[in-house]
Amino acid sequence: MSITMPTRRQLLSMIGHAAGTTAMYQAMTSMGFAATSDYSGPIELAGSQGGTKVLILGAGLAGLTAAYELRKAGYDVKVLEYQNRGGGRSWTISGGDSFTELGGHDVDCTFEKGYLNPGPWRLPIHHYAVFDYCRKFNVPLQPFIMKNNKAYLHNSQAYGGKPQRIGDVETDIRGYTSELLAKSVQQGALDEQVSAEDQEKLLEGLKGWGVLDKNYRYVTSEAVGEHRGWDVLPGGGLMPKAEPSTPLDFGPLLNSGLWEQLYVFNEYVHAPAMFEPVGGMGRIGDAFTEQTRDLIRFNARVSKIEQNEGQVTVHYEDREGGGEVMQETADYCICTIPLSILAQLEIDVSDEMKRAIASVPYASAFKVALEFKRRFWEQDEWIVGGISYTDLPIKQIAYPSYDLFEDGPGVVQAAYDTYPTKNYTYTWNTLTPQERIEAALEFGSRIHPQYREEFISGTSCAWHRIPWTLGCYGQWTEELREEHYETLCEFDGRIALAGEHCSHIPAWQEGAILSGLDVIRRLDARVNA
Ligand SMILES: Cc1cc2nc3c(=O)[nH]c(=O)nc-3n(C[C@H](O)[C@H](O)[C@H](O)COP(=O)(O)OP(=O)(O)OC[C@H]3O[C@@H](n4cnc5c(N)ncnc54)[C@H](O)[C@@H]3O)c2cc1C
Repeated sequence: MSITMPTRRQLLSMIGHAAGTTAMYQAMTSMGFAATSDYSGPIELAGSQGGTKVLILGAGLAGLTAAYELRKAGYDVKVLEYQNRGGGRSWTISGGDSFTELGGHDVDCTFEKGYLNPGPWRLPIHHYAVFDYCRKFNVPLQPFIMKNNKAYLHNSQAYGGKPQRIGDVETDIRGYTSELLAKSVQQGALDEQVSAEDQEKLLEGLKGWGVLDKNYRYVTSEAVGEHRGWDVLPGGGLMPKAEPSTPLDFGPLLNSGLWEQLYVFNEYVHAPAMFEPVGGMGRIGDAFTEQTRDLIRFNARVSKIEQNEGQVTVHYEDREGGGEVMQETADYCICTIPLSILAQLEIDVSDEMKRAIASVPYASAFKVALEFKRRFWEQDEWIVGGISYTDLPIKQIAYPSYDLFEDGPGVVQAAYDTYPTKNYTYTWNTLTPQERIEAALEFGSRIHPQYREEFISGTSCAWHRIPWTLGCYGQWTEELREEHYETLCEFDGRIALAGEHCSHIPAWQEGAILSGLDVIRRLDARVNA
């Protein structure tokens, strides 16, 4: 199976036509995405007795974790930040917000209710550091519904383009694979691997696991109805007799590609329960900013980083003050500026470090959110939270986990993709904000025909057009890590880097925080050596 990567023109012309075939999901573990946090509780630093000054570049979670903890330990800390706000990618776009993307287009948001988390939007339970800081900084959290059996799997080439419920596909796949395995056991295909006694246990287990009948077949039955649902639901009194739903046929199901769309739910980072901050992911960035606001110089665009044996000097442009170039000196510098930008700045480090900085490409990602007059996905289709997946270039539709069952407008994350290979993300990044909304509306209408009728407004984020990241996150490969990762994380004289790109959990806020903690632990050890 393959995805045809459309050009900008093709993507636009695909509106109104059928899209390509099933998505292939990136093996995320190879990029470190599935790594577990090794956070083991609050950091303890020996501290600075002599007022050691540390200049931190970038007020995302890596920079602000470092700033918060270093100040607590007695260091003299200052943060330089390009934007007029802190939090970096930990950001939420709501009604009234606007920004100008690279290329000059204004992106605005007029949502009455609801929001877009353009970057981070969900928290796996094993991201212990994020949860610890949320607790410490009073950021209220609520469940994030990742998997909802009522949401859809959709392939434009299968079932006449009709979406299928996640629960139906999953139950059927489990049923058919159990039936096949039972057959193999009964035909003696596993006699060498499994003892006779264990074969009995396996058959018994498969019967329950796959909801097989007494002949080990997966067919329509009351028991199957109990697992995959009903065509006529059990009712009360003299209501019609319940009728179990009928499994999808095995061959077409196998060929539909929908099975592959289920894999995402099995990944460790997406395991239930997941969480999100009440009011949007930006609440985390805001909370870190509130703790460190007095240390941050906003609207400061760092342009050059120099060092000698005794100190570091950072040149920055005062974006508020008419672009005047200013300087700041310190004993040490922790730089959390994304590598996609840092690679373009003058920085006084070894050639090896310069090569490492320039070596890591940034993933391309985009999101589109659409506001609708009513929550029709809940009211008409009983999809309350969760995510539908599709082979169309929107890739997924995520329904809000907040304001559930409320009347009035609601916002869905109507398109999102980050996958670095065989994807549409570069094409989406070439569309204007208005074209992105139109494309999301058109493709999404094939899954939810209510889209056009209920649409109010939309907003988007194309990460390659965000001037302060120029991309989504560091896209490591095993080879790149082998060659450059240690150099990137080591001190180079008085300068050290931090950020999600300096972690084994890239693309997650946990990685940014852990990287910030790790770099200050080493800095503190050095100062106190
Ligand atoms: C699409 C997407 C989806 C994601 N999904 C999730 C998720 O579901 N859950 C999760 O936990 N994480 C997720 N992440 C990852 C998470 O957002 C990042 O890992 C984390 O926020 C990065 O923090 P950071 O401090 O390393 O960088 P940033 O937050 O980018 O901070 C860097 C700061 O440097 C500033 N800066 C840039 N250039 C300059 C300059 N020249 N001078 C001064 N300052 C400068 C920037 O303005 C920014 O504030 C996602 C990210 C994206 C983009």
